Amino acid sequence: MTAITDLTLDLAAVRRDFPILDREVHGQPLIYLDNAATSQTPVAVIDSLSDYYRRYNANIHRGLHTLADEATAAFEGVRSKVQRHLNAFEPREIVFTRGTTEAINLVANSWGRANLKAGDEVVVSLMEHHSNIVPWQLLERELGIAIKVIPVDARGVLDQDAYRGMLGERTKLVCVNHISNALGTINPIAEMARDAHACGARILVDGAQAVPHQAVDVQALDADFYAFSGHKVYGPMGAGALYGKASLLESMPPWQGGGEMISRVSFERGTEFAAVPHRFEAGTPSVADVIAMGAALDWVNALGIERLSAWEQWLLDHATQELEQVDGLRIIGTAPQKAGVISFVVDGAHSQDIGLLIDQLGVAIRTGHHCAQPVLNHFGVEATCRASLAVYNTPEEVDAFVEALRRVLGMLR
Ligand SMILES: *Cc1c(COP(=O)(O)O)cnc(C)c1O
Repeated sequence: MTAITDLTLDLAAVRRDFPILDREVHGQPLIYLDNAATSQTPVAVIDSLSDYYRRYNANIHRGLHTLADEATAAFEGVRSKVQRHLNAFEPREIVFTRGTTEAINLVANSWGRANLKAGDEVVVSLMEHHSNIVPWQLLERELGIAIKVIPVDARGVLDQDAYRGMLGERTKLVCVNHISNALGTINPIAEMARDAHACGARILVDGAQAVPHQAVDVQALDADFYAFSGHKVYGPMGAGALYGKASLLESMPPWQGGGEMISRVSFERGTEFAAVPHRFEAGTPSVADVIAMGAALDWVNALGIERLSAWEQWLLDHATQELEQVDGLRIIGTAPQKAGVISFVVDGAHSQDIGLLIDQLGVAIRTGHHCAQPVLNHFGVEATCRASLAVYNTPEEVDAFVEALRRVLGMLR
């Protein structure tokens, strides 16, 4: 395939793929700007779910009948799709999970419990989502590990000097998101991985906001673990994945026990665990959702991830310029490298009131702490409004959102 040189997007065609974008909210056309919480779903993904339940719903792997074979082939086919999408070296490096949260908990409970002991240090960035903080705090209480926090500057950029300064022989793991869901900051993962590896530590990357917005190459990043959720990249809820380097996954004990993760179970001779990745997939997975996540990645690739990124960057710049004109508005997170997330607060208006009133005008934004309380507290706020973009958003929607925001602020101030 030749490289994409033409990045123009047929936005009308993109929008036609998303039936929900035609609906109204409170009698107004929906303007959906809550994509960092979950993205909307194209027809191809909805059809994939429906097709599965209409034609070949069956439990996978164990069956010898046709439906089970078809379901297994489709499910395992998505493993290869995810492998190619992340440029992992081989399909068995992809473990299916319910999403990012479950993927991180898998690493904490399997790799963490096997490799961490009292006095060991886990380095976590201040801008992590709670799902990349709390699993490590649970281990802190239980195992006596110590958590070190990478500070953030006034723009919302991780302090790399402070980070390098806290790496040492006690550091066993670095946990950082690729893109912050609260600030939009894109973190320099390849450099951070190099620094972590130089002191013998592993790096776990929360890619929940990166996979939807840019090309990801886990080998180029040299990530040890990389997690994402299908529902933020145009897929259904209920499916996501953990990438882990094969040698690491091989060395890890199971986390949950049950069906599918064993090769033999015996009360007399003990139980043998299945090979990677099935060792980490106990029980019946969300088969339809995994298959539909594959359809979502196909949809993204048919569009072209570079084209998608370029469009979102253009929209981000436009939305930022427009919001900066709003009196008393302060954007939280002004890193030079950002993805399509704009958090803001406005003098004299509570975020929650803005969110409620702007919904009356058909605009869906998120208000609150975005599951990232530590970094918001760092900026001296408890909550922000957050507008987050997807490839189907239009400049007209951004303008209508800013106009609606001005009307709401007129009522509140
Ligand atoms: C949404 C999100 C998560 C959690 O994802 P789930 O799908 O809820 O498991 C973790 N990290 C980041 C950066 C996110 O945006």
